[in-house]
Amino acid sequence: MPNPQPKRPNSYPADAPPCDPQLPLHALAHRIKHQLTSAEAFSAYNVNVWLLTNRGQAEYVVEHNKTIAELETKHPAKADNPAKVGLHSEVLVADRLYRRRDVLSGETRVAQIFTERIPCSECRAFLSEIPHFKDVPKYYYLAYHDKAWQKKQGGGNWGAFLMDCYRLRAT
Ligand SMILES: [Zn+2]
Repeated sequence: MPNPQPKRPNSYPADAPPCDPQLPLHALAHRIKHQLTSAEAFSAYNVNVWLLTNRGQAEYVVEHNKTIAELETKHPAKADNPAKVGLHSEVLVADRLYRRRDVLSGETRVAQIFTERIPCSECRAFLSEIPHFKDVPKYYYLAYHDKAWQKKQGGGNWGAFLMDCYRLRAT
């Protein structure tokens, strides 16, 4: 009997190798650990899990975005965030990894990127400019920029849709 798994994510490119099933499981564990499991938290936060490999050893780097509200608590002046944009998790993980010598040298390779929501156009452009990250296949549950798809798949409710993706199902 195969172990029950969360829903299999979509990918781009479409012909990418299958997503490591550990990626969504790590994302869910991260949500539980950080108490991000309410419907509101599923709407407000996007969790990223990046799979790194080094000589056959896997490493998982997990992060969630910082919301506008969180940033404004730390910098109430708001002057440094006039566009009212939070810090997306793709940027946070990329920034972390870009400080690592083993990643920059290519000794540790980014093999897969799981993000609950498909990267926004800014993150997509950002990742495409970094040689270490640009050709890494991306896996996602929610294509939130596609309103028609969102309505069909999630009834327009991102939170409930994502919660359902994590419901374990027989593979
Ligand atoms: Zn983004």
